[in-house]
Amino acid sequence: MNKVAARAAALLVFVLILTGGLVFFLGEYIAGAEDWVMFAGSPHVYSGNKLGTGILTDREGELLTDLRSGRTYSEDALLRESMLHWTGDRLGNIHAPFMQTYAAQLLGFDPVNGLYSYGDSCGTVQLTLSAKAQKEALEAMGNKTGTVAVYNYKTGEILCAVTTPTYDPENVPDIAGDTAGKYTGVYMNRFVQSRYIPGSIFKIVTLAAALEATPGIEELEFTCSGTYEIGGGDITCMERHGKQTLKQAFRNSCNCAFAQVAEHVGREKLARYVALMGITDALSFDGVTTSAGNFEVADATPEQVAWSAIGQHKDQINPCAYLAFIGAVAGEGTGAMPYIVSQVTAGERTTYEVDVQKSDRVMTVETARVLREYMRNNVVDKYGAENFPDVEVCAKTGTAEVGGGKAPTATFAGFVADKDYPLAFIVVVEEGGYGRDACIPVASRVLKACMAAMDGI
Ligand SMILES: [Zn+2]
Repeated sequence: MNKVAARAAALLVFVLILTGGLVFFLGEYIAGAEDWVMFAGSPHVYSGNKLGTGILTDREGELLTDLRSGRTYSEDALLRESMLHWTGDRLGNIHAPFMQTYAAQLLGFDPVNGLYSYGDSCGTVQLTLSAKAQKEALEAMGNKTGTVAVYNYKTGEILCAVTTPTYDPENVPDIAGDTAGKYTGVYMNRFVQSRYIPGSIFKIVTLAAALEATPGIEELEFTCSGTYEIGGGDITCMERHGKQTLKQAFRNSCNCAFAQVAEHVGREKLARYVALMGITDALSFDGVTTSAGNFEVADATPEQVAWSAIGQHKDQINPCAYLAFIGAVAGEGTGAMPYIVSQVTAGERTTYEVDVQKSDRVMTVETARVLREYMRNNVVDKYGAENFPDVEVCAKTGTAEVGGGKAPTATFAGFVADKDYPLAFIVVVEEGGYGRDACIPVASRVLKACMAAMDGI
């Protein structure tokens, strides 16, 4: 009996080891199969050291890039230029991350049967960008330098995000020999990688902080004599705005009034709300990570705190992160996190589909409603509602002093208050002068193109 028991025990140990090994192997296989298949050098995936398969399309399925035989682009030169910072170039100066990020889904590798599901056809990454809106945006920017972007604040899809300057990847200009500065920073995706001094579009943030932190501030009156002394320094306006309500001060973009608003809020609360509202956060989606912004008032003088509250001093914003903040204002305190890849298909199979993500609540519904009312008042009372026919646009302009003898950066940010066209936008024009003159015509054209894209026109 002892012998039999000993054998049974040994057998049991053996079975346990075998089972344990199988479970371990299966676990490793399921967790790591895609990595093994995707290893650099896999002939299924790479030609040389470059990803050798996959098509990138716009939201309608229009071809942008085809990686199957080298790298080919759309036949439309304007589209190639407008999409360059998302499709990348052949030399790798502009990195487009989507194909790499979704390489496993593009191949449609199935860990159960070890097969690729695309068969003879190849995988497709579909972007949320509209080819038509991209082209319209590039034409509207003309020879201006900067970025214009529009996203749906209900779903998060980015319909348009154009960076200028750009060039045609099929006819690469002499960038190294560019002495006129026409191609300065051309390899940078300004929507994702840049940091700008925001100027007065930052007053939206200060106003939000004031409404949240200072009950009753809407009933106060703010006097502007053209100069406001604070901590021994002067905050200045281009003109004397006189006595104003908070709403009028916002419409006038009165620096003196907003210096007083900043005093009411105080540096700690201002910094806390800027952090809470995610203004300086780096966002990550679809293999893209945006540059973090900057807001620094801890060691600032009272005068510097005031300049920070009006979008100067050391303030820096990333256009994409700021767009997401505007989306939260538009969405009554919560927006949608931006994304740019809507789905990936491998043959007949959809291997990736976006999961819409709401942002955290960054302000109360009441604060967001007041911001909407004030931003709408800016458009009706100052910028001209006729620039945006048929839709209710709410917005704020900015003119950011950048120093160094350069003309100011013109900024413009806002949203469409319409359930059928829930679009938020941002326009930045470097050395553009006044936000109103440089940015409003661009925003007007691009919004119209994005609404048409939503209508499927
Ligand atoms: Zn003023």
